[in-house]
Amino acid sequence: LPENERQLLKLYDEATKFYHHLLINTEIGDTALQYLYQRGVDDATIDAFMLGYAPTDDVLLKYVTEKKYDYQLLRESELFIEWDDGSLHDRFTDRVLFTIRNQTGAPIAFSGRRLSNDADVAKYMNSPESILFNKSNELFNLDLAKNDISKSKTVILFEGFMDVIAAFQAGIRNGVASMGTSLTQDQVQRLNRIAQKINITYDSDNAGQAATQRALELIGRFSQMKAQVIHIPDTQDPDEFLRSQGVEAFQNVLQHNTEDPIAFNLRYLKGNYDLNNQVEIFSYIREILPIIASVNEPVVRQTYLQKLASEFNLNYDGLNEQLQPLLLTKI
Ligand code: ATP
Ligand code: MN
Ligand code: MN
Ligand code: MN
Repeated sequence: LPENERQLLKLYDEATKFYHHLLINTEIGDTALQYLYQRGVDDATIDAFMLGYAPTDDVLLKYVTEKKYDYQLLRESELFIEWDDGSLHDRFTDRVLFTIRNQTGAPIAFSGRRLSNDADVAKYMNSPESILFNKSNELFNLDLAKNDISKSKTVILFEGFMDVIAAFQAGIRNGVASMGTSLTQDQVQRLNRIAQKINITYDSDNAGQAATQRALELIGRFSQMKAQVIHIPDTQDPDEFLRSQGVEAFQNVLQHNTEDPIAFNLRYLKGNYDLNNQVEIFSYIREILPIIASVNEPVVRQTYLQKLASEFNLNYDGLNEQLQPLLLTKI
């Protein structure tokens, strides 16, 4: 490793331990600690994920200044923001910190969550890209999950830090997060090397469902993984569901609330149409027939067609006739 990368890793390691220490051992971190307890995170999990607390008053800057880090290195770390007068100040203030680790488990970035519900403050703030942190490449928790993914050949893809952490605490250890809703090609290819199955377990709100559709497309295009969508009941995210319904109910959802990509798309695209209107029903059908045509097994195709026919009270033979040209153009 180049010397400055080595130094940056050391700096991140120290910053992580410092923030973690403030969270668990000091008065100043108590509100943040209570916040995590209240969200159901226990001490072992706080340690395993090296969670931390970043207070105000440039405490990190003061701490690392004593350690005689080079000014240029501190700038490159992106742990600080630089004012117009050239002075550095802590980037993260009054936030719970999620440590983002690289594949070998070394801290390379942070995401800070606000403690309040104040909508004027961004809920999460992430480290910008740096020499260590290439956002589109990293998946949260891949280092800890790697073994379980390799063994089960299955990865669970979540949206958020808290979803991964809650699942981990419940004993589900093959979860990673794309850190937001936009999965990238790099992330997909990275997972494709160790997993054969990917269970997309995004939030059941509109943003999560739209992101699921995009993820399915990327996975289909850039991997050989077999994708499934896990549908969390109600408009809850996995963390909320786990906390309110418990591990057994969540395991049950993982096992049974599954849709293959075709079924997901058929359901999801319905949302774009007013299905009380006959014209819109036909538009919906025009949109989904190519998707049904993309299914290779005739019996699966026919099952979808049959469902469609009975759902909208349509003639099966008519639907089938309309599908035929789409099957030919496929080749
Ligand atoms: P929480 O449970 O703490 O409220 P969440 O994970 O459910 O958070 P979502 O709104 O579902 O939050 O967002 C999912 C993920 O998207 C977050 O975990 C975070 O990685 C990312 N994210 C959300 N809001 C922001 C933001 N303002 N800036 C950057 N990333 C964000
Ligand atoms: Mn969300
Ligand atoms: Mn949440
Ligand atoms: Mn969420």
